[in-house]
Amino acid sequence: MNVLVIGGAGYIGSHAVNKLIKKGYSVSVLDNLVTGHRDAVDQSATFYLGDIRDKAMLNQIIQEEQIEAIFHFAASSLVGESVEKPLKYFNNNVVGMEVLLEAMQENNVKKIIFSSTAAVYGDVQAPLITEDAPKAPTSPYGESKLMMENMIKWCDLAHGIKFVSLRYFNVAGALSTGEIGEDHDPETHLIPIVLQTALGQRDAMTIFGDDYNTPDGTCIRDYVHVEDLIDAHILALEYLNTNAESQIFNLGSSTGYSVKEIVEASRKVTGKEIPVKIGERRAGDPAKLVAASEKAREILGWKPAYETIEGIIQTAWDWHEANPEGYAN
Ligand code: UDP
Repeated sequence: MNVLVIGGAGYIGSHAVNKLIKKGYSVSVLDNLVTGHRDAVDQSATFYLGDIRDKAMLNQIIQEEQIEAIFHFAASSLVGESVEKPLKYFNNNVVGMEVLLEAMQENNVKKIIFSSTAAVYGDVQAPLITEDAPKAPTSPYGESKLMMENMIKWCDLAHGIKFVSLRYFNVAGALSTGEIGEDHDPETHLIPIVLQTALGQRDAMTIFGDDYNTPDGTCIRDYVHVEDLIDAHILALEYLNTNAESQIFNLGSSTGYSVKEIVEASRKVTGKEIPVKIGERRAGDPAKLVAASEKAREILGWKPAYETIEGIIQTAWDWHEANPEGYAN
């Protein structure tokens, strides 16, 4: 099967390309390399340098490569930045999705696996968030992803474009073989920042707020290993190959860890001290996001292999220790 991975040079997209190729799919990648890395893309994939908003390019790739399904990872994805620069998010994410859906419709591509996010929910009071929980995003990032989900839904109704939207909770870790991992510039995500501090690349890491309504006052998130997350994408594609109904799934572990607990687990894994400072809250951050993920387990048969936060952090640590400068190395 011929699959186009848009954003396939990014952290999550590159792990998808790697696993699709291992599973025998024929993979093309479109990435503008604004945040992605050419070196992260498996050599067996055909690489196209370009932007999702370039419809002529999308048309050309879909036709030349006879694309049958799209994995869509290309988006701006930082909660804090999105509060400062909302229009960047509506342009790159929402306009990008609109152009992609036009190209899919015009070229008769009927399957899309979409990277959505827990940020579509906003502040939820329930202990575990189910897929039908109210959607009230607290950031333009979450809002843009909710708009993108809804755009695909209406194109399903009008044009029969079938989708699986996967609402990621917090994705972490690296390929267990050490080939690829997480490398953002600037880095904003918690686990890489904690590990950069363990490596001595930062004097201390800052905890963004310790006055949230949580047991230790720091934000709680649900961490899922990137390889487990990609397994769910491939199960989702297999699902669309045999089922007519589009779906939305949460992808998480149903277990929450506070920022302080992540620092403590990282101290255990690395054996390093990891100095910490307490700072201001970051705009747009909900106090707690923990998934109910039974639906993906039941319908897709998804079974995450990583069961402990230490196991997830260990793979990230192996990558960071071996590649302290990321792909620049
Ligand atoms: N966080 C923090 N210090 C940092 C980076 C992140 O305290 O240097 C917190 C952040 O406020 C959030 C959690 O760690 O509560 C996870 O943030 P991340 O950016 O990794 O993922 P997000 O939840 O925004 O997708």
